[in-house]
Amino acid sequence: MEKREQLYEGKAKKVFATDNPELLIVSYKDDATAFNGLKKGTIVGKGVINNKMSNLLMQRLEKAGVPTHYVKELSDRETLVKKVTIVPLEVIVRNIAAGSFSKRYGVEEGVAFDSPTIEFSYKNDELGDPLLDEYHALALHLATPKEIETIKKLSFAVNEQLKAFWRECGVTLVDFKLEFGRLSDGTIVLADEISPDTCRLWDSKTGEKLDKDRFRRDLGGVEDAYAEVMKRLTAHI
Ligand code: ADP
Ligand code: UDP
Repeated sequence: MEKREQLYEGKAKKVFATDNPELLIVSYKDDATAFNGLKKGTIVGKGVINNKMSNLLMQRLEKAGVPTHYVKELSDRETLVKKVTIVPLEVIVRNIAAGSFSKRYGVEEGVAFDSPTIEFSYKNDELGDPLLDEYHALALHLATPKEIETIKKLSFAVNEQLKAFWRECGVTLVDFKLEFGRLSDGTIVLADEISPDTCRLWDSKTGEKLDKDRFRRDLGGVEDAYAEVMKRLTAHI
């Protein structure tokens, strides 16, 4: 397998072609952005942590029956993945009120829900990833009704798996964002990443934030928080 041209550079990762048209290499950067790119910075070592964490979690999800894009970790920062056509929806699952949910609905951060919620944003940087519902997604032809059903079912399954796993690590899974894609045969698989960039992770005992909110909110100790969740994860896997 040979690395070919760079196809894309995003905010957190670079994507490269390979000599196999069905496979890509993703390369994780230390660059951090928030508020739709308005806030920029570096989290030293983040790329390595996010790469490894995402791969460990995706392998675990595969074992639990969730199809993912993961193929093989190539190095500290690089992973071979199945190429997909990304469904342009950011799928957000929440167990506890935080972030934009708390702000939008006037609910204090930390209020636990009776059952998890799901919401979609239109993955479109120019529009600022606006919130939309299933009818909007269908009207915009972002996905078919069947794909949306599959995405919802898989997202809740991911939540149950990740929640249980993080609990064993002494971490509360507050919320997270997923992206799905279509393989060349149309199969929907989990793509992109699962990391402290895309999840809210709170220490189960102290409630300390161990995720990107430390960067977003200038709480300090950003690198230490990423290292701490990674340490707990590897101690448990
Ligand atoms: P962004 O595009 O939001 O700045 P990243 O820096 O993480 O995000 O860039 C990675 C890009 O690669 C994202 O647009 C993501 O949707 C896309 N992507 C993730 N996994 C795959 C995959 N398996 N196949 C094709 N594209 C993918
Ligand atoms: N999230 C993400 N990328 C986005 C938006 C949100 O990974 O573009 C994650 C975020 O890290 C959190 C969850 O999705 O774990 C819910 O985020 P929220 O809607 O509360 O938005 P925020 O407060 O980050 O603006």
